[in-house]
Parts: sequence; structure tokens; C-alpha cells
Amino acid sequence: MRVAVIGGGAMGAATSWRLAKRGVDVVCYDRYSPPHAFGSSHGESRIIRTAYFEGDWYVPLLREAFALWRELEATSARSLLTMTGALMIGDASSDVVMGAQASARKHGLDAEFLDSTQFRRRYRGHVVHDGDVAVLDREAGVLNPDAGVAAMLAQAPQVVRDTEVKSIAELRSRFDAVVVAAGPWTPQLVEWIPLSVERQVHGWFSIARDADWFGPDRFPAFVRQSQDSGFMYGIPSLDGKTLKIGRHHDGETTTPQTIRRRVDDSDIDPLRLLASTYLRGVSGHVTRTLTCMYTNTPDGHFVIDFAPDDRRVIVISACSGHGFKFAPVIGDIAADLVVDGETRRDISRFSGARFAAPDVPDDHDSQNK
Ligand SMILES: Cc1cc2nc3c(=O)[nH]c(=O)nc-3n(C[C@H](O)[C@H](O)[C@H](O)COP(=O)(O)OP(=O)(O)OC[C@H]3O[C@@H](n4cnc5c(N)ncnc54)[C@H](O)[C@@H]3O)c2cc1C
Repeated sequence: MRVAVIGGGAMGAATSWRLAKRGVDVVCYDRYSPPHAFGSSHGESRIIRTAYFEGDWYVPLLREAFALWRELEATSARSLLTMTGALMIGDASSDVVMGAQASARKHGLDAEFLDSTQFRRRYRGHVVHDGDVAVLDREAGVLNPDAGVAAMLAQAPQVVRDTEVKSIAELRSRFDAVVVAAGPWTPQLVEWIPLSVERQVHGWFSIARDADWFGPDRFPAFVRQSQDSGFMYGIPSLDGKTLKIGRHHDGETTTPQTIRRRVDDSDIDPLRLLASTYLRGVSGHVTRTLTCMYTNTPDGHFVIDFAPDDRRVIVISACSGHGFKFAPVIGDIAADLVVDGETRRDISRFSGARFAAPDVPDDHDSQNK
């Protein structure tokens, strides 16, 4: 069986790795030379967590993802995952807190609820307003995306770099199956999923004092939700000098061709405001920034599905800003769909058909009822 994968970011690299492991003749095409900084999988940190506020149905996939990241570390002899724990912060009725608690309860996860007093006492780098609570997810940490993509691609014998695939049909005539993992370029190849691409900027803020508050052993990665500021996230200091923070969503709609790569005050000022409102000991000085793209579905959940008219075409790359952690398991699911035409994992929530317009009876039909 010959399979083409379009894209060598997190999803395409993972699919290529998992297909190659099954002995499939897989060719991965990328328009650039991955890992590269033009898509969604670059940098040195992505959060992985288990008490998933986005939906408890993700938890079985996350458990598999952890095991596969560890397998990749063993086969590549690279360190990819640092366990730091993660804090979901908000008021007691916020989506992040309620959702994380629901996942933890349903799956018996190693998670702890912290009231305002416990939260304030334990994590001095956070400003804890009255009413702020947190869920500490101990089965969580930080992945290295550049190293992870490189490690997955190293397991794939045929990577064709700097080669843009113009259409799925171009490959479909030469391969038994095609997996589309084109991230923010997916709308150029696939018109049956309503996707929008969102620009995201994050920055590294200098730690002004008490750097030991922010190390990976003391300061969990976090997602914070507030009524005033929406969602923000932070990654513990990996260099002992800076803390990475970003806003989750609220970015401008863009495309990979037109994205504004230059970062200016209109990007940094909102991050500064978050830092000064919610963090203690972090200055407003930004040492570097990164732009990146989310590829969003209307409901924020993934699409992992066959094309409606061709079960030899599989689309996996619409991860709505929270997909990196799942890459190995999504790649393995894609390999299932290619090789077996089905998967034992429950992917019913990730169907593309959920966005299909409902059949509306025409006037003639309704008059006859
Ligand atoms: C700022 C930011 C922070 C994030 N934080 C987290 C986090 O903490 N935790 C988490 O789990 N997730 C996070 N995510 C989301 C996660 O990084 C993405 O879901 C994931 O990296 C998407 O990978 P991808 O392979 O789908 O897309 P990409 O990495 O963009 O890969 C797509 C690839 O396809 C190639 N390509 C496209 N079109 C073609 C073509 N026609 N021919 C050939 N090649 C083509 C591109 O060159 C690219 O390499 C974050 C994303 C961003 C932007």
C-alpha cells in the first residue's frame, strides 16, 4: 500500500511515523522543510494535560498520547516531555474549572481542587483574586514541539521537503490513500469543513524577582479563564529568566499567505496587561515573541474523518488550537483509518458531517405533509 501525507507538521509527521511503523510505504510532502516556523507546530513548548476541560471524551485519547510520546522518546533517545502539572484557573463556575473537575471525576484522575486560600498559599507567582480557584492536574506537562516533530519525521523514511502539493487529486491518482494534514493550509485543499484560521502571538516575559517561583518543578503550566480577559495560558520558565504567556483565541482572522508576522504593541500590550493583572514577579519586558496559527472548527473540536466522497482521503488537521498534545494518537488513528478503514478509538465527535447543512424540505415537500 502506498500512502501520501500532505504536511509534515505535528499531525502529518505523526501519521507518517505511525504508518511507517506498520510497514506502509508512506511519503510525507511538505511545502517547507519541517520542523519550520511558518505553520502551527513550532517553538519549544506546548502544554499537555489530562483533566481536559474541553470534554471528558478526550481523556482516553490523552492517556494514549502520553504513552506514545514516551515511546517516541525511547525510540528517538530525545527528551520531549517534562512533567510540570497544570493548573486550570478561574471562578468555581468557569468552563476550565468545571470542565477539568468533570473529566477528573469521570476518569478518576490525579487532580486536586484548590480554593482561593490554598491556591494563594501554594503558588506565589499567581495573583489570586477573591473567588479564584484552581484545579491542579498532576498528569500534565510541557512538550517540545520542534524536537517532537523532528523525532517523528526521523521515523519516516520518505519526507519530500520544499514541495507544495497543489491538489489532493494530483496525489490520489498515484497513491492508494491520501492523508491531509495541512494545518492552516487545509482550507486550500478541502472545502467541506468550515474552517477559519486565527493569528496567535505569545511572548516571553522577563522574570523580575524570585525566579525559583517559576521553575518547572514549582510552577505548573496553566490555563486561566476570566470574565474580563478571556483565556490565557502560561508555561513555566524553561530558562530560569523568562515566562511564556499567550492569549488562547481572540486573535485576528488570517490566512497563511497574508498573516501579519511582525509583532507590534497592539499584540504585546494585551499580554502585558495579563502579566500585570494575573502574575506576580513578572515584568512587562518582553525578550521575544512568536506568531503562530490556529485552524479552528466552529465548535472548537477536531475533525478526524474521511472525505465525504472518497474513503481513501482522510483529513486530520483542524485542531482548533489544542491539538499538539494529541499528535501521536491522532497519527495512529489516521493510520488505522488508512490501513483498516476504521479505528477502535471513539472518534464519533470528530466527524466532518456534524457541520453539514441540515436537509431543509422545500416548499413542495412541506405542503404535502
Ligand atoms: C501559539 C500556539 C500555541 C499552542 N499551544 C498548544 C498547547 O499548549 N497544547 C496543544 O496541545 N496544542 C497547542 N497548540 C495547537 C497545536 O500546536 C496545533 O494544533 C498543531 O501544531 C497543529 O499541527 P498541524 O500538523 O495540524 O499543522 P502545522 O504544524 O501547521 O502543519 C501543517 C504542515 O502542512 C504543510 N503544508 C500545508 N499545505 C501543504 C501543501 N499543499 N503541500 C505540502 N505541504 C503543505 C505546512 O508546510 C506545514 O508544515 C498551539 C498552537 C499555537 C499556534
